[in-house]
Amino acid sequence: MTHRIILMGAPGSGKGTQAVRLAEHYGIPTISTGKLFREHISARTEMGRLAQQYINDGELVPDEFTVNMVEERLTHPDTAGGYILDGFPRTAAQAQALEECTCSAPITEVVDLVVDADAVVARLLNRAQIEGRSDDTEDVIRRRMEVYRENALPLQDFYRARGLLREVSAMGAVQEITDRILTVLGQ
Ligand code: ADP
Repeated sequence: MTHRIILMGAPGSGKGTQAVRLAEHYGIPTISTGKLFREHISARTEMGRLAQQYINDGELVPDEFTVNMVEERLTHPDTAGGYILDGFPRTAAQAQALEECTCSAPITEVVDLVVDADAVVARLLNRAQIEGRSDDTEDVIRRRMEVYRENALPLQDFYRARGLLREVSAMGAVQEITDRILTVLGQ
């Protein structure tokens, strides 16, 4: 079976970590919008210049830019055997655009990583010390959580209505969580 998976979860839910592990398991690429934006910023591209202020403020980059960037990425040949989307879609409008796009066959599963709010703030502050990301300060983390909460319900409803949503607890050890996800996906 070809997996075209969306990984959803709050900032700090461990989405990026799990995306890499799933990609390895299935031998398919991970497409991380946060990572793509950070690469554009490092490479000083026009997209990087547009995205930077939004990211530093913990706001979403406008849908139009984000959707264009993902749609372009999905046309690369390495996505033919499936892919994992990490951090996209983040809004119902992005989900709608993805559904209508001729750039990909339909999504096969949406995994929603469920965590409690205190745990994620602690994880993010810990990561801030390790990775030094410019958007991992406490105020910006709080804003990213708020933005996530505003968008999560409509997005969950969108995929629940299509029978694609799989909720998985993301509390516990990294390997345990990977095992839970693989079980839900039928390995
Ligand atoms: P996290 O999920 O931990 O906040 P990401 O690396 O996924 O980290 O995202 C970092 C930032 O990149 C977001 O706060 C936002 O500014 C931007 N971003 C990532 N994905 C999207 C998206 N789908 N739509 C709009 N902005 C995005």
